[in-house]
Amino acid sequence: MGDMYYVQASDPEIVSKGECGGAVTALFKYLLDNKIVDGILTLKKGQDVYDAIPTYITNSEDLLETAGSLHCAPTMWGGIIKEHLKDQKIAVPVKPCDMKAIVELAKRAQIDLDNVYMIGLNCGGTVPPQTALEMIKLFYEVDPFDVVKEEIDKGKFIIELKDGTHKGIKMHDLEHDGYGRRENCQRCDVKIPRKADVACGNWGVIGEDAGKWTFVEVNTEKGQNLIKDAEKSGYIKTKAPNPKGIEIRDKVEQTMIKMSESGKKAQLETDYPDLSEWDEYFNRCIKCYGCRDACPVCFCVECAIPNFTTKGQIPPEPLMFHGVRMAHMAYSCVNCGQCSDVCPMEIPVAKIFHKVQERTRKESGYQAGVDDTMPPLMDSPCGGQQ
Ligand code: SF4
Ligand code: SF4
Ligand code: SF4
Repeated sequence: MGDMYYVQASDPEIVSKGECGGAVTALFKYLLDNKIVDGILTLKKGQDVYDAIPTYITNSEDLLETAGSLHCAPTMWGGIIKEHLKDQKIAVPVKPCDMKAIVELAKRAQIDLDNVYMIGLNCGGTVPPQTALEMIKLFYEVDPFDVVKEEIDKGKFIIELKDGTHKGIKMHDLEHDGYGRRENCQRCDVKIPRKADVACGNWGVIGEDAGKWTFVEVNTEKGQNLIKDAEKSGYIKTKAPNPKGIEIRDKVEQTMIKMSESGKKAQLETDYPDLSEWDEYFNRCIKCYGCRDACPVCFCVECAIPNFTTKGQIPPEPLMFHGVRMAHMAYSCVNCGQCSDVCPMEIPVAKIFHKVQERTRKESGYQAGVDDTMPPLMDSPCGGQQ
């Protein structure tokens, strides 16, 4: 494994609609047309670029409207597959955090990886839709609804306006002022999803190929066969990547990882108070269970928390509510940020859980969603519940 290609859709319409060569859409079309999968779980643009709608596609003619990337879409596929598509054969585009959640769920027998084609997408981060709207008004000084396309490239958040003009501002500057990518994305250190069958992106596609081809790294035998068969059937074209492009892709990845290390340092060590002060946050908790419900890895069929907490008591006793969840998640949090995104009281739940995961990772070496082994403590009360 580890083979690398430049890949392009054979269908010119897919190439023009795709983000960079349309490889992902063409692979989906191949899988669906040839009945290798029952459906494709993916996103389509809703009202505007800030509105991404999860959609399950069973007719390949509908795939065109899903081509292209949406960076204001902090979605998570793990829970949706586990809840609704467990018995289907599917393909799904996965950011590294989706991949990590799916891997952890598979370890807990909640998803069968034989049923899932994970088409990985390299990810530099996502921006919450509301933050993007405000940020574009404030920093770019344009009407956010004039934006027809957005992308994160070379450390900048770039927007394209109706009139064809572009504006870009450094992520660093936006994040310094509390905008830009979600906080968990600023701490995310898996940028290329190497547990997915293939990992696709535009990093490393250079010169006249830039924007027209997708860089694909093959991670599994299933991924290797997919590329070979899709090419043989005429859905995609491949060529060897430019060696300089491989070097550049590697540099981009290393730079992004370095950025995430400083993000972690700033957010988890400097800004963030000691864990002994966690009451200060959890006293705001209204016990809505949003963090538990949104967490892709927190899956116990029968949640123990209601038994440990007193009915009607708000805030819940932090140790019994968040502590129990923590005991289940300390090794397994994949830093997807969903818990913080949904918390109505703006408690930095993901930061707290990620901080603990980083500590257990240091101590045990176990990295959730990346390691093949079972997490330590899987024999704890939550371990392997089915
Ligand atoms: S957590 Fe990582 S993989 Fe997930 S959206 Fe953020 S940067 Fe991308
Ligand atoms: S605890 Fe929060 S950040 Fe961690 S996996 Fe669950 S939802 Fe994601
Ligand atoms: S989402 Fe926030 S308010 Fe709701 S239970 Fe979790 S921490 Fe408490």
